[in-house]
Amino acid sequence: MHIEHSYSDLVGGAWLRGNLHAHSTRSDGRQPQQVVIDDYAALGYDFLMLADHDIVTTDDDLAKLDGRGMVLIPGYEITANGVHMLHVNSNICIEPLRDRQLVISLALEVPGSLVIVNHPNWEASFTHCRHDDLQAWQGYCGIEIYNGLVDCGEGSALATDHWDRLLSRGRRAWGFANDDLHDRPHCGAAWNMVYAKQRTVAGVVDALAKGRFYASTGVTIDRIAVEGTRITIESRDADRIAMYGRHQRRLARVDGRSMSIEYPAGEPYVRFECLGRGGRCAWTQPFFLAE
Ligand SMILES: [Zn+2]
Ligand SMILES: [Zn+2]
Repeated sequence: MHIEHSYSDLVGGAWLRGNLHAHSTRSDGRQPQQVVIDDYAALGYDFLMLADHDIVTTDDDLAKLDGRGMVLIPGYEITANGVHMLHVNSNICIEPLRDRQLVISLALEVPGSLVIVNHPNWEASFTHCRHDDLQAWQGYCGIEIYNGLVDCGEGSALATDHWDRLLSRGRRAWGFANDDLHDRPHCGAAWNMVYAKQRTVAGVVDALAKGRFYASTGVTIDRIAVEGTRITIESRDADRIAMYGRHQRRLARVDGRSMSIEYPAGEPYVRFECLGRGGRCAWTQPFFLAE
């Protein structure tokens, strides 16, 4: 039995904290771009993507701003005419056609860019994005499993239901957590901790593409290790660690700061949630049983 996972190469780099989903006054955000950057820098963030609605913030735009030491990623949020998606690391805005598969395909023609499907359980119907579409679309690298704006709006901020359904059918999709910042009170609610080999756009995007990150709303994971078929997770501020598998069955649970467990035979994937104070959580990416 062999486990495939995205944490096998945690050497020669550093953990970097960042949000890929922040709006500014260029669309419907309340603060200008420089203020948004200043706010995240003040919280100690390492990277940020300004993701205005169908308005790309390019490298040229970013060059006119002071990044305050953060890595600033060009991109935007594909919005009009359908399900929202982040187009990460693009200087080009794709026309938001109704055919979202075509939009994903056109977006991915931009070299080095990624597409993430946003807040699937947003809206009063809880169905901003239909699950059948998530199953059908090809090419996107993952979904927002937590969206901070939806936590204060209609629908569910969490979308681990869609994630586990995708994973259960063999899709290798990553889980992201983002603020979807529109105003200051929502700054710093959710982020991604990437293990980047370089503190550059390419370094961060490489880690995102390969799943070398975990998502968090306030819990830190200190160790993710696989030795043979044993997986060890350690978190300084978790009260509870749980392992989930196919169809979101909880396979194990520990009340404490670490879990060390054998990969369960026959399970196509497992993933871990580290639960902390006040409902805060960190989500690892999935570990897969190799063929
Ligand atoms: Zn959106
Ligand atoms: Zn948004």
